[in-house]
Amino acid sequence: MPIFRAPVEDTLFVLNDVLGYERHSNLAGFSDASPDVLEAILAEGAKLAENVMHPLNRVGDLEGCVRDDDGSVATPKGFKEAFDQYREGGWMGLAVPAEHGGQGLPYTVHSAVGEYMSSANMALMMYPGLTQGAIAALLVHGSDEQKATWLPKMVEGAWTGTMNLTEPHCGTDLGLLRSKAVPNGDGSYKISGQKIFISAGEHDMSDNIVHLVLARIEGAPEGVKGISLFIVPKFNLDASGNPGTRNAVSCGSLEEKMGIHGNATCVMNYDEAHGFLLGEANGGLKAMFTMMNEARLGVGLQGLAVSEVAYQNAVAYAKDRLQGRSLTGPKAPDKKADPIIVHPDIRRKLMTMKAFNEAGRALLLWTALNSDIAHRSEDEAERQAADDHMGLMTPVVKGVLTDKGFEHAVMAQQVFGGHGYIEEHGMSQFVRDARIAMIYEGANGVQALDLVGRKLGLNGGRAVQAFFKEVGEFCEANRADEQMAPYTKALKKGLNDLQAATMWLVQNGMTNPDDAGAASTDYMHLFGLVALGYMWAKMVKSAQDKLAAAADGSAAFYETKLVTGRYFMERVMPETAAHLARLSSGSATMMALPAEAF
Ligand SMILES: Cc1cc2nc3c(=O)[nH]c(=O)nc-3n(C[C@H](O)[C@H](O)[C@H](O)COP(=O)(O)OP(=O)(O)OC[C@H]3O[C@@H](n4cnc5c(N)ncnc54)[C@H](O)[C@@H]3O)c2cc1C
Repeated sequence: MPIFRAPVEDTLFVLNDVLGYERHSNLAGFSDASPDVLEAILAEGAKLAENVMHPLNRVGDLEGCVRDDDGSVATPKGFKEAFDQYREGGWMGLAVPAEHGGQGLPYTVHSAVGEYMSSANMALMMYPGLTQGAIAALLVHGSDEQKATWLPKMVEGAWTGTMNLTEPHCGTDLGLLRSKAVPNGDGSYKISGQKIFISAGEHDMSDNIVHLVLARIEGAPEGVKGISLFIVPKFNLDASGNPGTRNAVSCGSLEEKMGIHGNATCVMNYDEAHGFLLGEANGGLKAMFTMMNEARLGVGLQGLAVSEVAYQNAVAYAKDRLQGRSLTGPKAPDKKADPIIVHPDIRRKLMTMKAFNEAGRALLLWTALNSDIAHRSEDEAERQAADDHMGLMTPVVKGVLTDKGFEHAVMAQQVFGGHGYIEEHGMSQFVRDARIAMIYEGANGVQALDLVGRKLGLNGGRAVQAFFKEVGEFCEANRADEQMAPYTKALKKGLNDLQAATMWLVQNGMTNPDDAGAASTDYMHLFGLVALGYMWAKMVKSAQDKLAAAADGSAAFYETKLVTGRYFMERVMPETAAHLARLSSGSATMMALPAEAF
């Protein structure tokens, strides 16, 4: 049975010491989550994740969801009760403004707790996760009446939400979308079409399901410019606003899939279902993007969350499993063999995962904090800078944290040897669950294209220049600090590689777009390494400051940070050079062969 302990101490270090959480107490909601309240919230979230969500992870994997002939879907045993505890605890609306029934607390806090919950049970947490995405879209694009109608019950968790983009012939390229909306003449629409792969599309955990559906209004232009977003509930509301008659939307079948078995992935059939336009006609993609940006950060979080729980299990196994002797002489002479944690190659795996998880957590929380600043600051310049950061980092967080999340789930499985391949140890589930995060919410190749093709050049490169400046200034400010030198030197080298790659893209990507496409995944990972490296440099700086003042027995925590940061700089950061070399070789060889040669 896998174990899980929420890394609360580490989250608090990142928020309080590295990101200066308290400095933002002027932002709405932050003073309600002062550092001591924050600690209490994280502790409560940790308890729910460890004691309620985590024990159901394997149950969900083994049982999966079951569709009845009438189209209803049963979730695994215990899921509904766990979800009830989640919503009764107010977790659904933690970061939703109080005027809509939420607690108005920082999104940063929501993200911190979200990591614990997803480590504990990724499939279960997708039900509230999609609801929170739908709430975000309604908050931004809903009319006052729509907000009053749908939000209170969704924020309470009595109703859940979904996002319906994908159709059988239309995934990445939403311009191909065929679902149709015909005006009823009273402001509502009849929605028809088939959507596939819809997460949480049908289940037994809530009284109503609010589907957000992309469809084309009759006569609208072809392509992405003719797409609109609609609210289509499972149950139409009666005169008092309660679920009444059944709407013409149903789950035609459940996908049988590799992982996240506890989450219902549905084929949804809309047969002249009653729907309401959300946002502007033909402005559906923009409206959906509100939901998708939040959802992309949420998926990046899933990558980190699985990497963390897989790592924790690998550590426990490596301390317990006895095989062979240490290369430098027995470390457990009283036993017949040493625990495998003595072997450098096992250490390599554990340190790689540890170094990634801690920096990934910092990157994610830094981005979440910027989301709070972008939405809550009263200072326009500050809001803009934070929004720039969010836009730039969203594809990096999604693409890099999920690619690495999967890689590390496999790495953790490898620590178990053959036992990792056997289902009962739970490592196989982590691998299978982590795999989807690289695909949905825009496959990672498309995230890389978003970064290279859209985000880099936006507003004359303002966001990327600001990032380069911030990292460069950090290195410069700490140049004379001998203790920081090993970290800042490696970070500066990574930054130089990233700047060279950016310059290469500027010079080549415009004249030959295939060069930009061929470079994109390497560029995204190079960017991610520098962002993670910057997080490490900042964490090390904070740890050194704390160590200088530490007289409270907490030195070991900070000393561990220094070593782990050093490992990242020595063993992970050098990969920037390989990414730069690869991407600057261009697209010629990659594209040279005709399709028949494959
Ligand atoms: C378990 C699961 C849950 C899901 N949940 C939802 C959900 O709740 N709602 C929803 O709407 N959808 C959902 N999806 C759908 C998911 O978002 C899509 O599968 C994903 O966006 C990719 O679309 P596709 O599968 O059609 O692949 P395609 O678009 O056919 O892409 C195939 C491959 O080609 C690449 N590619 C495509 N176009 C380009 C391009 N222009 N340049 C370079 N590479 C390109 C992609 O990166 C990918 O690797 C889910 C999918 C799964 C498997």
